[in-house]
Amino acid sequence: RVDNPDHNVAFYRLDMNEGMQQRMQIETGLRHALGHGELLLHYQPKFEIGSSRLVGAEALVRWMHPQRGMIPPSDFIPLAETTGLIVQVGEWVLEQACAQAAIWQRAGLPPFRLAVNVSAREFTSSLPGRVADTLKRYRIDASWLELEITESTLMHDIDYVIGIMDHISALGVALSLDDFGTGYSSLSYLKRFPIDTLKIDRSFTTGIPSDVSDCAIASTIISMGRKLGHRVIAEGVETLEQMEFLRQAGCDEVQGYLYGKPMAAYDFEKALRENWLL
Ligand code: C2E
Ligand code: CA
Ligand code: CA
Ligand code: CA
Repeated sequence: RVDNPDHNVAFYRLDMNEGMQQRMQIETGLRHALGHGELLLHYQPKFEIGSSRLVGAEALVRWMHPQRGMIPPSDFIPLAETTGLIVQVGEWVLEQACAQAAIWQRAGLPPFRLAVNVSAREFTSSLPGRVADTLKRYRIDASWLELEITESTLMHDIDYVIGIMDHISALGVALSLDDFGTGYSSLSYLKRFPIDTLKIDRSFTTGIPSDVSDCAIASTIISMGRKLGHRVIAEGVETLEQMEFLRQAGCDEVQGYLYGKPMAAYDFEKALRENWLL
């Protein structure tokens, strides 16, 4: 208000305090959650189009809050990224994913790749060593693990980032570029990254087949990715029409509600066994 400038300022401060308080609550709660087993992983299947085989899964973190119920990652991952708590969350996720992969490997399940999301803040020079150590402790083959990184991770010091990627890739752990097409990384860098897979973001998949631009972007990513020697996966596949378009465009893998939502370990194992018997 012009007549009472302090009025607005006071409101503004109040809003900020509320926002800050809420953020602090989530942060304290998340710290608690980490130490008290409130986090868990769900697994979403990835299908290879050519073979109709379940060839992988993405591990997605969930927070089971004792009072508030299931809190989706969108409500705490971005915050954890700004506060730095994502590093501890990421350590927990990698540990848990490898523990689960070890169980599945030992149970004699067919090998598949378990993908873990890694935030930019976790992508430091200590990451390759931690990954190697975790694989060793759980005695799992590196070919069981994949790390999904977003384009924003690659926007910092390119040579530093490529060095870390090279270390990870040398371990035999696959790297995929998540949410591809939504970031601002220069295409000229793409050929320098030792990545295995490009992952087409759901925002493009959603527009297939009705949106001409989304179709063009998806087809272009697929043909470019394949020409560069990468595999290409599309996320957020919900309809048969989308699947058919992607198949014809030469996409290697699909992930989405059409094939399966993120599910508990027990259900994923069941899906894997059933698909294996087909
Ligand atoms: P993301 O890596 O792009 O993960 C895919 C998201 O799309 C997941 O949401 C998944 O449930 C959802 N999804 C998959 N298929 C479909 C579909 O067919 N339709 C629709 N509408 N949605 C689909 P979720 O599990 O809520 O995760 C959201 C984001 O949170 C992830 O996006 C990722 O950026 C982040 N996140 C989740 N777990 C972790 C984690 O362990 N570490 C880090 N750093 N980030 C994580
Ligand atoms: Ca992902
Ligand atoms: Ca994604
Ligand atoms: Ca996405």
